[in-house]
Amino acid sequence: MPFKSLGDESATMTRFFPLHPPPPRAMDRYAVIGKPIQHSKSPLIHQAFAQATGQVLTYEKIEGTLGQFAATVDRFRAEGGLGLNVTVPFKTDACAYATDLAESARAAGAANALKFEGDLCLAQNFDGVGLVRDIVHNLGHAVQGKRVLLLGAGGATRGAILPLLAEAPARLFVANRTVDKAMDLVGFFHDQGASTQVLEGGGYPDLHSDAFDIVINATSASLTADLPPLPVTALDANGLAYDMVYGKGLTPFLQLAQRSNVRHLADGVGMLVEQAAEAFAWWRGVRPDTQPVIRQLTVPLV
Ligand code: NDP
Repeated sequence: MPFKSLGDESATMTRFFPLHPPPPRAMDRYAVIGKPIQHSKSPLIHQAFAQATGQVLTYEKIEGTLGQFAATVDRFRAEGGLGLNVTVPFKTDACAYATDLAESARAAGAANALKFEGDLCLAQNFDGVGLVRDIVHNLGHAVQGKRVLLLGAGGATRGAILPLLAEAPARLFVANRTVDKAMDLVGFFHDQGASTQVLEGGGYPDLHSDAFDIVINATSASLTADLPPLPVTALDANGLAYDMVYGKGLTPFLQLAQRSNVRHLADGVGMLVEQAAEAFAWWRGVRPDTQPVIRQLTVPLV
């Protein structure tokens, strides 16, 4: 029996028995995972970026469970998830989960953004670069040649050290309530080649009466309306006082700076939006304009 050409048959089939149209392609899926997560502004930020850049995607919140990070991320990937932002308390879990760490995540020992490519899980930490972009580009304070004081020695400080050092400050002092933590952190970066002339650490009393051009509150004290034991002499009136916490108006730290007549005060809303923009660009290959979103989220410092 002569073979029928496949082309003829499929043409006939198509004409008389329409094949099902291909299912609509599932939308590219992203999320932020943390605990608690209800307060997160990340969905609002990423949806605004997507709309502004014409990217079609979904972005949701995932409430994680302690000890279940890997299982939750595995499930998200199995369901087609392409990338995650990671927030407290899972940033170190994210680092352990990843197969490939960028320098930012390796140095911080923590990741705040993951990208899934087949079996690979790439990890980045954009917090520090977001901070520096906000200070240098948005607020117009060059770090180069400046005296910079970082308060706190937790994850946020750890992520900020390399991006700040890359801007070549004259001095970067890490002050922490638990002095050993500051010394360990600074020692870690000295071991990686950071200059002992530039990067120093200690307790608050070790600040003596030294003044700094840029003072960054990277403690979590503002979350509980507390104030780190910062001597007012550390604040230069012509400088910048920057609180990484956002949306809380004038925190006790910013109030102290205001009472000390510091000219420039800022909270961490720009850092939040800038780190999100870095993640968005990494995932989607297009960098969104951050200014409209920063304006939308800014809570006046009063
Ligand atoms: P960690 O819990 O890792 O570290 C907290 C640090 O704060 C520790 O060094 C701790 O000191 C210090 N601390 C807490 N309370 C006090 C106090 N009353 N007085 C003095 N020091 C205190 O937190 P993270 O590093 O992850 O986050 C720090 C802050 O940065 C948070 O407020 C967070 O919201 C903010 N953040 C903002 C981001 C943004 O995008 N704007 C991004 C990431 C973080 P000790 O070691 O002695 O306990």
